[in-house]
Amino acid sequence: MAWQTRKGADASTGVGGRQERATAGDPPLAQGFATPIGECPGVRPRMVEPLANLGIHTLADAIFHLPARYEDRRELRPVARVVPGVNTLAGRVANGRVQERRGRAKGYFECLIVDGSGACPVRWYNQIYLSRQLPDGVAAVVHGRVDWVGGRRPRLMMVNPEFEAGATADGGAHAGRIVPIYPLTRGLPQRTLRQLLFDLAGQFAGQAVEHLPVAVREQHGLPTRAAALLYLHRPPDDADLDALNAARSVAHHRLIFEELYFLQLALLWQRRLRRQGRRPPFRRPAVLGKRLLARLPFTLTAAQRRVVQEIDADLASGAPMGRLLQGDVGSGKTIVAVLACLRAVEHGEQAAFLAPTELLARQHLDSIRRLVEPLDVRVAWLAGGLPAPQRRAVLAEVAAGDARIVVGTHALFSAEVAFRDLGLAVVDEQHRFGVHQRLRMVEKGVAPHLLAMTATPIPRTLALTLYGDLDLSLLDELPPGRKPVETVVRREPARTKLYAGVRRQIEAGHQVYFVYPTVEQETDESARSATRMAEELEARPFRGFRVGLVHGRLAGEERERVMAAFAAGEIQVLVATTVVEVGVDVANATVMIVEHAERFGLAQLHQLRGRVGRGNAPGYCVFMVGEGEQGKEARERLAILEAESDGFKLAEADFAHRGPGEITGTRQWGDMGLRFADPIRDRAHFLLARQTAAHRLEGGITGDEIARSLRLWGDRLGLVEGG
Ligand code: ADP
Ligand code: MG
Repeated sequence: MAWQTRKGADASTGVGGRQERATAGDPPLAQGFATPIGECPGVRPRMVEPLANLGIHTLADAIFHLPARYEDRRELRPVARVVPGVNTLAGRVANGRVQERRGRAKGYFECLIVDGSGACPVRWYNQIYLSRQLPDGVAAVVHGRVDWVGGRRPRLMMVNPEFEAGATADGGAHAGRIVPIYPLTRGLPQRTLRQLLFDLAGQFAGQAVEHLPVAVREQHGLPTRAAALLYLHRPPDDADLDALNAARSVAHHRLIFEELYFLQLALLWQRRLRRQGRRPPFRRPAVLGKRLLARLPFTLTAAQRRVVQEIDADLASGAPMGRLLQGDVGSGKTIVAVLACLRAVEHGEQAAFLAPTELLARQHLDSIRRLVEPLDVRVAWLAGGLPAPQRRAVLAEVAAGDARIVVGTHALFSAEVAFRDLGLAVVDEQHRFGVHQRLRMVEKGVAPHLLAMTATPIPRTLALTLYGDLDLSLLDELPPGRKPVETVVRREPARTKLYAGVRRQIEAGHQVYFVYPTVEQETDESARSATRMAEELEARPFRGFRVGLVHGRLAGEERERVMAAFAAGEIQVLVATTVVEVGVDVANATVMIVEHAERFGLAQLHQLRGRVGRGNAPGYCVFMVGEGEQGKEARERLAILEAESDGFKLAEADFAHRGPGEITGTRQWGDMGLRFADPIRDRAHFLLARQTAAHRLEGGITGDEIARSLRLWGDRLGLVEGG
């Protein structure tokens, strides 16, 4: 019947929001884009390993391996009109000869490229094997620099060009067009990879499944995914080279937008689910908070008052709060969080207060107890190391609801912890917890209010990426009277004097941190050198004092023990390879020395210096940098720390400079699951994608679309079981 035929046709052409498949005439591979790269046409066995090193395991990986930049090889120049500078020539090889040399002089292969207009000499140093690839008479396209060479009778010669044998002026992957340059790896030459991707894209990019809804694509004038991929691997001659190179082509735009759109959709969906939850609104007068504030020796800053109001409004709304509180070190987040806990308590609910390490959690326990026990609020402690009977007792208290505020580490996440009525979860130093953990905590109660806190200032686009499901509050004011930590950047020659100054501080009863960077994973090597350093410091400059050591290879318990000894003042000098536990509060510590400071980001260095100057005595911070060119660059980059004490300004500077590594603990956006988008470069896309996603959620979104965004991002966001 006619209508059946039509229906079939609709389905295959993708009308009606279904996937659009641009069939390119090639038979699809059996496993489609999941086909292992080794089984794809044009892939020779020895290419498989280098391809894997590039992260290319399947056909899809190959198609998504995008060029890093592009070269303009569109204009083929008649050989007679060669000029100094970059030229692209097409012709036939003639007079090929190999010059072998011994000793220091380089051997080379030289030939002429001859077209109807003339002949140009071309030479490849150290590549005499090219004589086999470029025998006389073969057609070739060469692209490279031409310069005057030779002493008495100078002539124009092209040296070490890229070339393509067998290619003619019309067509081919490597010349006569805008040519993509791909990120490479050992064992896979540019030409080989380019040819492969040129062919694979030509055959299969057209079959890429379309994800974006037609309405969104039309609204933003975006090409299909298939068209975008084809464009990027095989740019047409009329493409805008500058736009391509700046990742600003419409094809880039499309891929970046798509990625961010689904990310924002997942985050906003998560946020909506939270909002749809129900909680009894907290509307009673804040009696406990008032009593607490009356007992404090200080009054809240204006910023603290504002944030308290923001939180109170959430708590009174009847829906679960999801809020991220950002505030520089020392801005007074704890008291704000405690006030929120008291709101839960006076409405008959419980609050959980989590910190990423036991030491931090203990410090919170102490200060929270000091604050609220005079108000007759019972605070319980729950960490990993509790003896079994004690643990059972605490669990019983928590389950019965007698423990009103429960302080602890991630041990609070474990399945056996059952609250009677968890109303609020406070998570301190949020960025140290996995996102998944944050959500697991939330699952504990009937969607309790969530207050996440971080001292690491997060620029807005990054906050949207990481915490787009949360509302943001900002403590952008320090309590009055804080003195900035005196900060200097120093080189090796200053060390002796530095040690003398440090010793004076120790003799005056203060304590000192030495921090060593660990790059990537902590290795035995870095642990060893820190160990050696600690021994040397104890043996020589700080003889007679106790030097403690924490590094990533120590068991957690041992690390906690050393940190506790330092907090108790039993150790005067603490050498740490792991960043000194964020948020550790040792008021007596006055000096922070960071070795190889050039390896840290500004935001992280700012965090580190926040460890000192927390008591009444002034704090000092010394960033040691290396000599030489690298050291010079570092000194210039770090100089801002000497003058600027505002963490947010530093974070912005850092973010622009180095990317998110220091903030998220990941070094590349790829680690966060972003393949195309770069929150620095693509700020505008982030906002656009968020608006579009919000708009779609308002109306017109399909279950399919949400399901897709959760599939793409659910794992990362902890939305998918086991993710
Ligand atoms: P952070 O935001 O780094 O967690 P804390 O909450 O630990 O900061 O506060 C740092 C110190 O400042 C604490 O000793 C706290 O009692 C004190 N503090 C907090 N708010 C104020 C304020 N408004 N005025 C004076 N001191 C304050
Ligand atoms: Mg804190």
